Amino acid sequence: MTVSVANGRVLIVGATGFIGRFVADASLDAGRPTYVLVRPSSGNQYSKDKVAKALRDRGAILLNGLANDKELMVKLLKEHQIEIVISALGGATILDQLSLVEAIHSAGTVKRFLPSEFGHDVDRADPVEPGLTMYKEKRQVRRLIEKLEIPYTYICCNSIASWPYHNNRHPSEVIPPLDHFEIYGDGSVKAYFVAGTDIGKFTMKTVDDIRTLNKSVHFRPACNFYNMNELAALWERKIRRTLPRVTVTEEDLLSAAAENIIPQSVVASFTHDIFIKGCQINFPIEGPNETEACSLYPNEPFRTLDDCFNDFVAKMKDENMKQSDENTKQSNEIPPPKPVVEAFAITATCA
Ligand code: NDP
Repeated sequence: MTVSVANGRVLIVGATGFIGRFVADASLDAGRPTYVLVRPSSGNQYSKDKVAKALRDRGAILLNGLANDKELMVKLLKEHQIEIVISALGGATILDQLSLVEAIHSAGTVKRFLPSEFGHDVDRADPVEPGLTMYKEKRQVRRLIEKLEIPYTYICCNSIASWPYHNNRHPSEVIPPLDHFEIYGDGSVKAYFVAGTDIGKFTMKTVDDIRTLNKSVHFRPACNFYNMNELAALWERKIRRTLPRVTVTEEDLLSAAAENIIPQSVVASFTHDIFIKGCQINFPIEGPNETEACSLYPNEPFRTLDDCFNDFVAKMKDENMKQSDENTKQSNEIPPPKPVVEAFAITATCA
């Protein structure tokens, strides 16, 4: 089922970022020759250097440069005979991929390109602004890829496994709520949640799979299909206590989006699209140019959301231990329960 690739060399652009790190780790786990493009400078220098060093220590080859430097990218792609390019550029620099796509076209070495998608099917979903602008940019990148006839795969992996905070673009870095839940609408609209490591793992499975050539690959693991009410109940079982629910209405989410604070308002617009409009579930996967990860790889299990929530409990205990050590106390307990409050619904003002 794999396309014949001479060397399978992968270049990951954006590997020091949130999603890119999962992909780079998965590429190394899969034993692929992995190249990582590191841009010379940015605000977040310390953590970026740490990630780049960790990837190098695992065997990645670091290349310096900017994805939008077309001349340099042509040179690097040719010099290293790169066959697979995966981009995980962040929301602010989606259009930097236009030069990258042109470079891939000119170099002629690349057998598959995966642009920075890692969310919804941007040709289908129709969020309010400012999320829509990002989708329009992602669509623009898609159209150039298709016009230049570059072999592609679009990864539509849906939500990352975590509590879907509407104001945090990397919610899996944050422990689910311990004081109260914010439930979007009536909490009944379902979504798919995928562990970051699985985003990396299944992305890497597609890169030379003939069945994913020029297709969108949707991630719909049945074990991780939850609505907000079910998500809250799952977390309550983990922390062995109940928390009050606060309803965040459709209007609340639309006002948070309309504030146009980047990136929070972008996340609010996607949250509205997912949990009010049902953008992940309001279509069947049946077109000739789309396929689904579980049916492609039926013997490869997805990590369950239940397991991911166990990780949050472990993380919480670790943090609590550190805190206790600082206070010269020993404890591996979950932080003490807040008073149990009956579930109720009020309209919240979104921060
Ligand atoms: P981040 O902002 O965390 O990381 C972006 C990466 O791109 C960084 O490594 C950054 O480098 C690098 N970069 C940016 N511009 C350039 C450039 N011109 N040349 C070279 N490198 C560059 O991005 P995210 O991980 O948040 O987003 C990646 C994709 O995943 C996006 O498409 C986003 O929409 C999607 N996403 C999906 C989520 C989901 O739940 N499904 C959650 C979050 C994102 P540096 O380290 O120097 O800044």
